[in-house]
Amino acid sequence: MMLPPDDLEREPYDVPRGACPACGSGDVTHLVIGLPSGPEAMEGDPDWVHWVGCVHPGFDRECGSCGATWSSRPVSV
Ligand SMILES: [Zn+2]
Repeated sequence: MMLPPDDLEREPYDVPRGACPACGSGDVTHLVIGLPSGPEAMEGDPDWVHWVGCVHPGFDRECGSCGATWSSRPVSV
């Protein structure tokens, strides 16, 4: 491992942005469950990544073009 022992940096957000299943637009916002380590960490993320804490809105992808929302993972209810 090449990580420095006392100055850990969060790994960059590298999830593929994907495309809207409704309109095919690439203007997709990711709603990420969980919190980054701090404001500095958030600034390093693409502006289409939104941290939503532990409150899951029921979807984690939102289309900026048509407003569609969906979940990136299959929902088993
Ligand atoms: Zn769309």
